[in-house]
Amino acid sequence: MSVRTQSNGIKWEELSTYLSADVVVCGGGSAGVFAAVAAAREGAKVLLVESQGGLGGTAVNGLVIPYMTVRIPGEPRCSYLHKELDKRVEEYHKEKYVVNSCDPMVFGIILEQMCTESKVQLLFHSTVCGAQVQEGRISAIAVACKDGIRKIEGKMFIDCTGDASLAVLAGAGYEQGHPKTGVNQPMSLRYMVDGVDMEAFKDFLDTYNDPASATSGRNGGNMYAAVWNKTEGALKPLFREAIANGDLTEQDMAYWQMFTTPGRENGIAFNNPEFFDLTDACDPLQLTEVQVRGKAFILRQLNFYKKYFKGFDNAYISNIAPMVGIRESRRIHAKYDLTGMDLLGQKKFSGCISQCNYPVDVHGGADLFQDDLPEGDPEKPWYEIPYDCLVSADLDNLLAAGRCIGADFIAQSSIRIQICCHSMGEAAGIAAAMCLDKKLQPGQLTGEEVSGRMKERGAEFVQE
Ligand SMILES: Cc1cc2nc3c(=O)[nH]c(=O)nc-3n(C[C@H](O)[C@H](O)[C@H](O)COP(=O)(O)OP(=O)(O)OC[C@H]3O[C@@H](n4cnc5c(N)ncnc54)[C@H](O)[C@@H]3O)c2cc1C
Repeated sequence: MSVRTQSNGIKWEELSTYLSADVVVCGGGSAGVFAAVAAAREGAKVLLVESQGGLGGTAVNGLVIPYMTVRIPGEPRCSYLHKELDKRVEEYHKEKYVVNSCDPMVFGIILEQMCTESKVQLLFHSTVCGAQVQEGRISAIAVACKDGIRKIEGKMFIDCTGDASLAVLAGAGYEQGHPKTGVNQPMSLRYMVDGVDMEAFKDFLDTYNDPASATSGRNGGNMYAAVWNKTEGALKPLFREAIANGDLTEQDMAYWQMFTTPGRENGIAFNNPEFFDLTDACDPLQLTEVQVRGKAFILRQLNFYKKYFKGFDNAYISNIAPMVGIRESRRIHAKYDLTGMDLLGQKKFSGCISQCNYPVDVHGGADLFQDDLPEGDPEKPWYEIPYDCLVSADLDNLLAAGRCIGADFIAQSSIRIQICCHSMGEAAGIAAAMCLDKKLQPGQLTGEEVSGRMKERGAEFVQE
């Protein structure tokens, strides 16, 4: 039996098995949680390995709220578990519920409850750092824990690390970044500020009153403001003044965006700073720099709000994301890799596992399209993600879900939204359990079988 050790000298023969499961899910973000819960609800014994100290990944530890809508009339929920999540979030926030948004701290707790109630075994503070591959299958993974390397065995593996870490450690092929330059999307460090006098701040935004770039929400909708390099926003002159006075830098203005935070009466969440010069999420030095430089930006920005906005006199930084905001890094080679042209042409697939019409969203993305662009589908204005995008082209018992599935750079910029990650995770979890039940490999299942089971469970798709 051939044994390939892809993990930089791990001595597998010296490791005893620490834990084992039918389905091992690597990464507990939006996709991983849904994969784990879905597989467990189908009767599989599931272990979820997560390097952070809690679930939610980018959504929770990266402080990324809100989750985008799919922008299809009727907002179909292609994941039955997402419908359950909606209910749990609504139940928590009650009359303060804002559609598609939740206090990220509570969101993390809800995700953990969904896992524990479904008997998913959780393993935190453990980073997947190696994979043992035997005859084209992953037989075990190595995880770096406090006291060293531990071995975990499984029958089916789902890579939900966002960075395709398991696939890459197992020697599978992958793509990274823009097809011409290899450069990834910019990384961000999100934070939250509390203690804001919201009435004073709303009055301040009302003096600008531009629905696209500065709105208090008093006339309907949410409070929102944004400034970035490419567009003239209502608040931009204020940013320019602060730059001229030495209170901000040009980089502070590269991408700045704020939202209200549901459940936090006096809180604002910020989708910045964003680093166009720090893009490689697999380089720990760059990740460190996002954190260190990012925190200096955050403090400078708080001081800017106090001096130039109204309502921030007693404001303070309440959260800085422990996890760097990574939009895109590595993507697996799948049985089918979704393309930007599929997206723009709003291509349909039999047995799709997710439907979406969120646009191409490449930050700072110039030179994306040189080819003739396909026309969309005016009758059915959405694209679909086929199950085959989750199936590894290289390893028999490996699925992926979330932002690292088989998709090109352009397609990934849309499918990465959390609601798609939820349905991808659910599909991968159901597929893994089905494979065990039917003694098949993921590549032998059809999308119809997987989406059929999702629908039986309550997932809703727009009529094809
Ligand atoms: C700044 C920013 C703003 C965004 N804004 C929005 C928005 O407004 N709405 C929206 O819907 N989407 C938004 N997105 C996109 C969306 O949040 C992400 O694409 C999505 O959450 C990714 O989910 P995931 O499960 O694929 O990956 P992640 O959430 O990144 O989860 C991966 C998990 O795997 C763990 N992990 C990684 N490597 C290992 C390892 N080796 N071993 C063990 N565990 C590991 C990580 O700790 C993490 O918990 C945004 C993204 C960013 C970065």
